[in-house]
Amino acid sequence: MQNTIRLGRIRGVSVGVHWSLLVVAALVSWSLASGQLPAAVPGSSSGAYWLAGILAAGLFFVSILAHEMSHAVVAQRVGMRVEGITLWLLGGVSKLEGKVPSARAELAIAVSGPAVSVALGLVFAGLTIASVALGLHGLVVAVFGWLAFINLLLGLFNLLPAAPLDGGRVLTGLLWLRHGDEWRANATSAKAGRVFGTIVCGVGIFELLGGSPAGIWTLLLGLFVLYAARGELGVAEVHRRVGDVLVRDVMTADPVVATGWQNVAYFSDIARASGHRAFPVAAWEGGIAGVVTLDRLATVPPENRTLARVLDVTVPLSGLRTARPDDKLVDVLTAPKAVLDPRILVFDDDGHLVGLITPTDLSRVAADPGAATRTPAPA
Ligand SMILES: [Zn+2]
Repeated sequence: MQNTIRLGRIRGVSVGVHWSLLVVAALVSWSLASGQLPAAVPGSSSGAYWLAGILAAGLFFVSILAHEMSHAVVAQRVGMRVEGITLWLLGGVSKLEGKVPSARAELAIAVSGPAVSVALGLVFAGLTIASVALGLHGLVVAVFGWLAFINLLLGLFNLLPAAPLDGGRVLTGLLWLRHGDEWRANATSAKAGRVFGTIVCGVGIFELLGGSPAGIWTLLLGLFVLYAARGELGVAEVHRRVGDVLVRDVMTADPVVATGWQNVAYFSDIARASGHRAFPVAAWEGGIAGVVTLDRLATVPPENRTLARVLDVTVPLSGLRTARPDDKLVDVLTAPKAVLDPRILVFDDDGHLVGLITPTDLSRVAADPGAATRTPAPA
């Protein structure tokens, strides 16, 4: 996540804070100091309310950090690499690397965060009772009471069975354990997340229409859930369709290569005659410069077609996905990358071009993944 302030490392996990959290910390302190605390414990100075408000907000974010750290520590225990934790507007995000090894591991990672939040809630509830019994100042009691409430809320809210919430991952783990199909389980909890996100958005809009400005938070939360659920559903669907398919099974081998320094008019004729729509482009200095398509060739106006070079309308390698023949197609498709063109260039270990994957190849394999895996792999 960008705009992140790095705080340091805990157990090898880098911890950062997104700027939006500072705004939320200020808002939480302010709403406690100017509203909730004076209402609960009247008669103190405004300095005392602010001190209590800031302390409570600080302890709340330490609680969120503890929640996220427990996900990270359990993930490390089951052998996953944890890239980092970022605390932001709506809590925390742990960046885990690699595949979750088993359904039990998924369950353990998912449950650990809410378990820590509920445990913290119970500890703060105990401290609330103890500080009443000891006759401590009302503000101490109120701060402990608020922390107990907010941690229990955080733990229980996160257990709602809808991805990307922890409860969604619990659901994934349970379904995966039951029918053994990891990606079907992922798709189900992502669909639940979509339903849940829509409901939360609806509640937010309802609140806003009713004149409650807090509705903006609800709406933001709903949009976040919807966006994340949509992304997870996309990844799950790709896995379900092409889980075992290798790049070599899908690619068009030895595609027609365009010569980058030929003029557009000359190559357009060759291109149309070839019956293909996309062509890897050879660079002047050797190697492959990128991909050119019929559509891009057609963007050159008629008066420039004999002057413009194929390279002038080529999508560069930096804007394309590349792969090796033995890569799993699903890993290539789901690796995060901003692409300018959906085509995938396939290179062997020596960096020679061996194939091209087009959207047509992809839709063919998506329609019938078995057809691709049954094709005998070239030696
Ligand atoms: Zn969590």
